[in-house]
Amino acid sequence: MKIALIAHDRMKEEIVNLSMAYEGILSEHELYATGTTGLRIMEATSLTLTRFLSGPLGGDQQIGAMIARNEMDLIIFLRDPLTAQPHEPDIIALLRLCDVHKIPFATNLGTAEVLLKALERGELSWREIVHKE
Ligand code: PGA
Repeated sequence: MKIALIAHDRMKEEIVNLSMAYEGILSEHELYATGTTGLRIMEATSLTLTRFLSGPLGGDQQIGAMIARNEMDLIIFLRDPLTAQPHEPDIIALLRLCDVHKIPFATNLGTAEVLLKALERGELSWREIVHKE
């Protein structure tokens, strides 16, 4: 399954800790990330991720292009709710495309854990049927 991991700067520590806690299950999947998030995760774990550009430089849009083709199966995007982001429109676009294709999307740690536990139990395997259609 293709999983995207993204976190705003103040949420980087959270996504690194999450990746460490769920390294086992994440290592069984194809991982993608925006530039800095991917780097931080690779420094802290033995996970390998495909890194796109940094979010503010277009990395969210690159992930969005995969979502537009319905190629991404799960998005974990830990957004900073207290800081304005220069690339807010890109973030909204990403959310909208996930809604178009009904792709599970977590924007905070609570939902991210629920989705990763569901992934562990194989409850997101319906996404494989989507790919066959
Ligand atoms: P970054 O981008 O991983 O390159 O910091 C994340 C974002 O702000 O969208």
